[in-house]
Amino acid sequence: MTVHTTCPYCGVGCGVAVTDGIPRGDPTHPANFGRLCSKGAALKDTLELPDRLMKPMMHGREASWDQVLDFIANEFARIRDTHGPDSIAFYVSGQFLTEDYYVANKLMKGFIGSGNIDTNSRLCMSSSVAGHVRAFGEDVVPGCYEDLEEADLVVQVGSNMAWCHPVLYQRLMASREKRGTKIITIDPRRTATAATADLHLPLAAGRDVLLFNGLLVHLADTGAIDRGWIDAHVLGFEDALDAARRSAPSVERVAAAADLAASDVLRFYDLFARTERVVTLYSQGVNQSVSGTDKVNAILNCHLATGRIGRSGMGPFSLTGQPNAMGGREVGGLANQLAAHMAFALADADRVRRFWNAPRIATKPGHKAVDLFEAAADGRVKAIWIAATNPADSMPRAGRVREALGKCPLVIVSDACPTDTTALAHIVLPAAGWAEKDGTVTNSERRISRQCAFRAAPGDARPDWWMFAQVARRMGWENEFSYGGPAGIFREHAALSAFENNGQRVFDIGALADLDDAAYDALAPVQWPSPKPGRGLTGPRLFARGGFPTPDGRARMLPLAVTAESWQTNDLLTLNTGRLRDQWHTMTRTGRVPHLMTHTAGPRLALHPRDAARRGIEDGSLARIKSPHGSAVLRVTIDATMRVGDAFVPMHWTDQFSSSGPIDRLVHAVTDPLSGQPDLKGTKVQVTAVAEAWRGLLLRRAAGDPALGPTVHWSKAPVAAGFAYEMSGWTPLAELIDSEHALRSLLQVSEATELVSYSDPKRSVFRYAGLADCRLEACMFFAAPRATFPDAGQAADWLGQALDPIARLSLLAGIEAGAAPSSNIVCACFSVGEAAICSAIRTKKLTSPAEIGAVLRAGTNCGSCIPELKKLLMANAAEFSEVA
Ligand code: SF4
Repeated sequence: MTVHTTCPYCGVGCGVAVTDGIPRGDPTHPANFGRLCSKGAALKDTLELPDRLMKPMMHGREASWDQVLDFIANEFARIRDTHGPDSIAFYVSGQFLTEDYYVANKLMKGFIGSGNIDTNSRLCMSSSVAGHVRAFGEDVVPGCYEDLEEADLVVQVGSNMAWCHPVLYQRLMASREKRGTKIITIDPRRTATAATADLHLPLAAGRDVLLFNGLLVHLADTGAIDRGWIDAHVLGFEDALDAARRSAPSVERVAAAADLAASDVLRFYDLFARTERVVTLYSQGVNQSVSGTDKVNAILNCHLATGRIGRSGMGPFSLTGQPNAMGGREVGGLANQLAAHMAFALADADRVRRFWNAPRIATKPGHKAVDLFEAAADGRVKAIWIAATNPADSMPRAGRVREALGKCPLVIVSDACPTDTTALAHIVLPAAGWAEKDGTVTNSERRISRQCAFRAAPGDARPDWWMFAQVARRMGWENEFSYGGPAGIFREHAALSAFENNGQRVFDIGALADLDDAAYDALAPVQWPSPKPGRGLTGPRLFARGGFPTPDGRARMLPLAVTAESWQTNDLLTLNTGRLRDQWHTMTRTGRVPHLMTHTAGPRLALHPRDAARRGIEDGSLARIKSPHGSAVLRVTIDATMRVGDAFVPMHWTDQFSSSGPIDRLVHAVTDPLSGQPDLKGTKVQVTAVAEAWRGLLLRRAAGDPALGPTVHWSKAPVAAGFAYEMSGWTPLAELIDSEHALRSLLQVSEATELVSYSDPKRSVFRYAGLADCRLEACMFFAAPRATFPDAGQAADWLGQALDPIARLSLLAGIEAGAAPSSNIVCACFSVGEAAICSAIRTKKLTSPAEIGAVLRAGTNCGSCIPELKKLLMANAAEFSEVA
């Protein structure tokens, strides 16, 4: 039997078909037609996570569900009665299914009576929500995925979709092959996405509004504006254009301020002006900014001014990061929404109150994420329930968030695995995981799909909706939360969307409110509004003929003021944080899959060669990065595709995976004033060189923090039989290993374990191995920073194996001393490294990813590495021509 479900990693919302317990791409799902990216293809490897939470824990002790649920319900009631409803808060997640969201939102906003439920989607796309509401009157994405395939020009703004939305990117690439779609990427970094674009505009951080204001002026000056459409469907055109002219009077002024070539800016403007079918895609590079909402509206202005919206192959398109960020928006899971695309206007609050039969409906927005944790820090919030997310690592000023949780009298965390946040909780609740949960999710194109359980939850793990409903029932709302399963919750959610709607709210899935349980189970992917079960592939586009959900039916163009001062550098760098191809969020799943760690094994600080040289930093050496909120030591990658003045660090690594912990510790907690979305890409940092004294590699079967102290940088990656730790120290090695006890403790081996060693102090070479019954339990290699060093991939194969005397000698000799280390893995599906690909390109004169695939298989499964294959082809072609 095949179970149809969806991938839990990103907003593309790919369908997954599970047969005999093995997840594969679902060929019938209209988001992906069978394709999965490297993360989706590795879902099978995350089904048996070794450290699942199995039992509720209360104050460090196991407890029964009855005990913890009664305790939470009693405490919530006591705190609400003593300090008021706003003293309780929920912080939930785009990992929630819509049904989880619905129950948590209803409990907080209708029954506890506060707006204090926010979600990690605040960090992802809340600026898009605010922009949509300002322009359209409601948070609505007007287009669908087919538009990318039917466009003649696709503009990607602040979106590395080759890595972050890979399957959708592949759909775009496939259609480009057929119709010659032009692609322009606007991004400070030359990402894998930008590398394959026809034009890359590496603009200075924060200049997006200016760039699109300039575009609006150009559209007006070249006759590309659709006056008839504006007159019929838009308000605010003249004001928006006046404001744009003031800030962007000429292409040259825009180019100077954005640090771009004027000819490139003009090329972008001309192409946009003369191409009718144009889609503008945007995601975190736009949203995660102090001016995120204005950036969104600057893009929307250009589409509204040209009437390029809601028709085939055209429109603005916000890509959501998390798999069910969109479902959370539908439910009202953001603190500034109430429910079902209604806000806190009196009439809306009254309507929702009557529908829910709620005793005390929230009448004002609650705290948005950054403010919510600040309220916990200063004592206004006295109880917080964090579900399916890890704010101790992912929030800006993560150290301050940890401090807040340390002060909050009651911290409840529900999750499937331990995280840096569960470590701070008074109560930890074991949550059912992806393969064990039933419900629905909505992807970036408003398509609702079923997520279906195909495994039983381990131990006492339970779905999130069940936990929230149980607490509600124990607080006295038995009837209102008497759900027997997700189908009943979904029906209620669908009915609320249609309740007294009368066409005022586009979000209306009332047609699904009468599904019986069997029909809910069999629900095929369907787009809203007005979905009909089984409708499938060609969901509606919106607003082609206006009809915006505003009081007068017209969209709003916004006047957006910016100053066009010239771009300049100073000693501080601008820290940009973002995602990598094979990792998800804070690595709680993907960080446990060995082959997903082979693409990028540790956290790296990327710098432009000029910035590195100015600081005396070499490629592969260590550097300290420091902001007013914290500092970290990271290994540096010198990257000519970076902009001068920018630094990039991936957001994934946590205290569980590296000594540098979450980079969000350093990130400022400045937010967009309208959306409350944090500016995760604009923190000013100092970067200085750190003189490395030694480098080491530790392989051991035991996990955990290796307790290396504050003068050692380490990062951890799982290998087949244990864990590999890359280490570097900047004080003498003797300080770290000053006794056999210290050595054994690093190796995590007992007194009974046999220790063998080799040392050559003159060359700073030290090697140790711990063997139990001749099996390798752990080994450790130290060398001078630039010396030849055993490769983790080679040494890891020995872990857990019985070693004969020759193998022992080989181990202590540094394993085939001098053997070339394996290179970064480019194709995670078939473990094909960069060195092998480059060699094949040169020796076999390969010229396309297809030819590489035919020789090495790289890129022939999920296709996530195809942009990198193209990059390697280009780099090697450039080298050929230089040689020639
Ligand atoms: S693109 Fe990849 S991560 Fe995103 S939903 Fe599809 S398979 Fe999952």
